Amino acid sequence: MNAGRFAPSPSADLHIGNLRTAVLAWLFARTTGRRFLMRVDDLDDRTFTDIARRQLEDLAAIGITWDEPAQWQTQHADRYADAISQLAGRELLYECYCSRRDIAQAPRAPHAPEGAYPGTCRDLTDADRTERRAQLGRPPALRLRTDAGAESPAPPAVTHTVHDLLHGDYTGIVDDFVVRRGDGVPAYNLAVVVDDAAQDIDQVVRGDDLLPSSPRQAYLARLLGYPEPTYAHVALVLNSDGARLAKRDGAITLAEIGVERAIAQIADSLGYQASTVEDMLPQFDPAKLPREPWIYRPS
Ligand code: GLU
Repeated sequence: MNAGRFAPSPSADLHIGNLRTAVLAWLFARTTGRRFLMRVDDLDDRTFTDIARRQLEDLAAIGITWDEPAQWQTQHADRYADAISQLAGRELLYECYCSRRDIAQAPRAPHAPEGAYPGTCRDLTDADRTERRAQLGRPPALRLRTDAGAESPAPPAVTHTVHDLLHGDYTGIVDDFVVRRGDGVPAYNLAVVVDDAAQDIDQVVRGDDLLPSSPRQAYLARLLGYPEPTYAHVALVLNSDGARLAKRDGAITLAEIGVERAIAQIADSLGYQASTVEDMLPQFDPAKLPREPWIYRPS
């Protein structure tokens, strides 16, 4: 059965904006008959289990329910390795020896989009690769050859269009993005796609800072033979300077705000009368969700 999800990274305690996104993801899933799942995206923050546990406790405390025990990405190494070997077997991956600096300084095709990988390592000879590998002193990153079969040099970048319930059709670049990093850890884009498919997640609701990642993820899902999920990228919460919420903004975590007040603030930001998340269910209407960021002023 299909599911929605919330997938926090345990880098810091959840703030009111993260909690609001979680509430929205839960509302989207529960009002469309989906299961709701929780996943801890701990590949980058693998030692922060205490933060992860607190995040799950906070989510439960505001009334969010999930249908299976939370999954942890660090337990899914085999899943990611299988996907990577499937792609490698189809010759869709290549080794990349570039540092961030190499990428920033590489010459770009005239119309290459900002931030897209310039393709430096995509057409090296076997001899070049042997030499670069020996110089590197760490395993190379692996990149997806996004337009395999196309003429070299590569066209500026492939694009892919996703359908987003709030943003409509969104077209973004799909460059030769990293699927396994230079430290051997599966890249975020790969891990998310593989996990969502493994958990039958077909509805991805998250902050709109991740909208530009969705074409890459949907493209990869399609390559791996997975269904593309439906997306809803919700407006973020910002401070009164228009910046992301941070500790210096004052009381922003559940421990500081308190459960009752946090739910009241979230309800208020969405225009609902509610003292529990359950109360929000009958009032939830995706078409009426605020499209602008919520400017949070701790009270
Ligand atoms: N773990 C990611 C984050 O906290 C979100 C992953 C996703 O929703 O796809 O930014």
